[in-house]
Amino acid sequence: MKKGEIISVRTPVDVIPGISTVRKKSFDALGANDLGGLADHFPRGYQNRKNICKLADAPIGTPVSLILTVGTDPKSVKLRGNLSLTKFKAFDDSGSCEIVFYNRTYADKSYPRGSTHRFYGRLTCDKNVLRLNSPETEPYYDGAKLLPMVPIYPLTAGLSQKIVMNSVRRALDLLYSKESELAAYTSIPPADPIPSEVRKKYNLCARAYAYENIHFPSDEETLKQAGDRLAFEELFLLSVKLNYTKRTQKREIAPRMTDTELNGFLSMLPYELTGAQKKVCAAICEDMAVNVPMSRLVAGDVGSGKTVCAAAGAYIAMKNGYQAAMMAPTEILARQHYNDMSELFNKLGYKVELLIGATKASEKKRILEALKEGKVDFIIGTHSLIGDKVEFKAAGLVITDEQHRFGVRQRAALGEKARGVHVLVMSATPIPRTLALILYGDLDISQINEMPPGRQKVDTFVVNESYRDRLNGFIRKQVDAGHRVYIVCPTVEEAQTEADDETDVSLSDFFEFFEKEEKPALKSTLEYARKLREEIFPDLGVGYIHGKMKSAEKEAAMNAFVNGETQILVSTTVIEVGVNVPEATLMIVENAERFGLSQLHQLRGRVGRGKEKSYCVLVSDAKAGTSSAKRLEVMRMTSDGYAIAERDLEQRGPGDFISSGGDIRQHGKLKLRLASFTDAALIMDASEAAASVISKDPELSLPEHAGLKQALGELADANASFAN
Ligand code: ADP
Ligand code: MG
Repeated sequence: MKKGEIISVRTPVDVIPGISTVRKKSFDALGANDLGGLADHFPRGYQNRKNICKLADAPIGTPVSLILTVGTDPKSVKLRGNLSLTKFKAFDDSGSCEIVFYNRTYADKSYPRGSTHRFYGRLTCDKNVLRLNSPETEPYYDGAKLLPMVPIYPLTAGLSQKIVMNSVRRALDLLYSKESELAAYTSIPPADPIPSEVRKKYNLCARAYAYENIHFPSDEETLKQAGDRLAFEELFLLSVKLNYTKRTQKREIAPRMTDTELNGFLSMLPYELTGAQKKVCAAICEDMAVNVPMSRLVAGDVGSGKTVCAAAGAYIAMKNGYQAAMMAPTEILARQHYNDMSELFNKLGYKVELLIGATKASEKKRILEALKEGKVDFIIGTHSLIGDKVEFKAAGLVITDEQHRFGVRQRAALGEKARGVHVLVMSATPIPRTLALILYGDLDISQINEMPPGRQKVDTFVVNESYRDRLNGFIRKQVDAGHRVYIVCPTVEEAQTEADDETDVSLSDFFEFFEKEEKPALKSTLEYARKLREEIFPDLGVGYIHGKMKSAEKEAAMNAFVNGETQILVSTTVIEVGVNVPEATLMIVENAERFGLSQLHQLRGRVGRGKEKSYCVLVSDAKAGTSSAKRLEVMRMTSDGYAIAERDLEQRGPGDFISSGGDIRQHGKLKLRLASFTDAALIMDASEAAASVISKDPELSLPEHAGLKQALGELADANASFAN
C-alpha cells in the first residue's frame, strides 16, 4: 500500500498483507474479491466464548468457555497410521480436566506447563475423568484482547476461519477506522445508504457500527442491532431500486392501441370468460390504450385461466398492427402455447411462430427475418427470445408466462429488450402480499381470484411405501377408465455439505433461514420408468420425460401422452408448470417430502383440468410429526393456492417464488442475506421508507441521498457482472 493510495469498497482484497494471488482466488470463490465484498461476507454463526465457566459448574456435552492453566507437560503418542494424540492436564480453582488434541504435534510447544489459555469446546465425562476434546484455544494473559463472540464464516478451499476472520478485521479497519494506518493512505468510508432521517425514524444504527458488530459483536444485543440494521438496508435498497425503475419505465413511451375492442377474439373462444378474467382483460385494454408502457403482473392460482388474458393482450397488439411476444420457461410449455395460439389466431388471420433452442438454424433464420420484416405477428418461445438477434419490426407487447420461474437476470434482460413496449407477466404462484410488495414493486398487479366453472376439487392423499400395491391398482383403474396418469420423481441433486463447525449462536436465531432436512434415497426417473414398463404395467403405455432429454424426444414423449399412446408419464418436474392435458386425472408424486409446497401445488394443478374427478397421491415415508409430514398434511387439507403459498414462504423462504430449475435458480435467485421475506413488518417499513425517499427526491440528487445513490450504482454493477 503506497502513501496517499485511495482505499474504497472496490479496492481488491489483496491490498491486505498476507493475501497472495492464490489466496485471492479463494476469496474470489467466496464472492469477496474486494474490501466491500469481504465486509459483506457475514458470519454464519458465532461461538459465544464470553461467559467463562468454572470446571466444577461446566455442563457436559454443550460448548463451554473455560480459562485453564496447563498443569502437566503435553505428551504426544503415535496411534495407528498417521494419527497422533497429544494430551495434558489443565485446571482452574474449581477442578481439573484432560485436554486432548489429535494430529497437533506442535501442541507440545504451544501449551507449556503453567501457561493459561481460554479453551472452548465440549466436555465429556468418562469414568469420572473430565475431558475436553480438540478445543479451540487462545493464550490468556493480562491485557489479552479476546473476542467475546467469535464469528464463524462460510469457507471455501484454501481458507481457514482464522484467515477469513483476520482478513475481515483488516478490511473493516481499512474501510472504517479513523486512526492507525490513516497516515499511510486516504480512506473513503462508504457513505451510509440509509439517509439519517430514515435511520432515526426506524431506530437503526449507523453503518460502520453495523459492520463492526455483525462480524465482531460484543454480545447478543449488539449483534441484533447490527443484524436489524443490515436487514433493513437490504430490503430498503431493493425497494428503492424497484421504485426507481418503475418511475423510469413510466417515462418511456409505448405504442398507443387505439382499438381495444375484444369481441372478435372472445367470439372465437369455446367458453365465456369468468368475471375475474373479464376484469383482468379490461385492465390490460385500459393499460394498452395509452402510451405509458404497461407493466402488469397477472397473478392467479394454477388453472385459473391466465393464458387467455395474455392472448387477449396479444390480440389487441396485433389488431393495432403491432407484434406480440410470449416467453415461457420450458420448451414443453412454449410448444403447448404455440399449438393453442396458432390454432386460435390463424383463424383470425395472424401469423404465429415458435422459437426455441431446438429450432433448426435455417428455420430460426427464416423466423427471425420474418419477424424483422413484420411478417410474424406473434412469436412464442423460451428464453431464446432474449437472444441478441431477435429484432421486431414493431413490437407492441411482451408477455412472460410463469414469471416466477425466470431469474432476476432474465427479467432484467427482457426488460432491456422490451424498452418502450407494453409488458405483461403471468405468475401461477399466488404471491403473498408482503413478497409482492418487494419482488414486484415495479409492477401493477391483477389477481385472478376465481376458477373457471365446473372445476372439481382434486382429492389429495398422503401414503407411504406400504400402499405401493394398492397405488399400482389405482393407476390401472384410472387407465382402464380411459384417463391418464402422471408420476413425478425428484431430480437427483448432490447433497450440500458444509464444514460442521461448532456454533452456539446461529444467525438463524435472529433471522430465519432455510430449514435443513435429511434426504432419503431418491427414485431415479429412468430406472423407475423401466420398472413400471417392464415389470408392473407391461401391457400399458409408459412414457418418460426429463429435462436432459433432447428437445425432439421431449416433444415426442409429450405428444404420445397427449394423444393417449402412452397413458402413464413418468417425469421430473419439467412438467411442473403450465402443462395442460385435461385427460389426466391422477398425479402421483414420489418422495413428495422433497418438494416445496408451492411446487406440489403446481404439480397437483396438472390434474383436475377436465370434467373427470381427479386425484393427487403424495408418496412419502416422512415420519409423523416431522416438518416434512406437516407440509404434506397442509397439501392434503388445503387446495387454496394462497394459503399454501403463505405456508411455503414461512417454511422455506422465497426460493420457490423467485425461480427454480437448473442454472436459472443459481444465477437468478434473489438472495437476501439477513432479511427474511417472511418478516412482514420489516418489509412494510422498508418499502414505506423507500417510497417516501423516492417521492421526496425522485432523482436522488439531494446530498443526504448521495450514499443511497452510490449503493444503487454498486447494486447495478453487481447485477451486470453476474449476467455474464
Ligand atoms: P393457468 O392460469 O394455470 O395458466 P390456463 O390458462 O392454462 O390456466 O387454463 C386452464 C384451463 O382452463 C385451460 O384448459 C383453459 O382452456 C381453461 N379455461 C380458461 N378459462 C376458462 C373459462 N372461463 N371457462 C372454462 N374454461 C376455461
Ligand atoms: Mg399457465
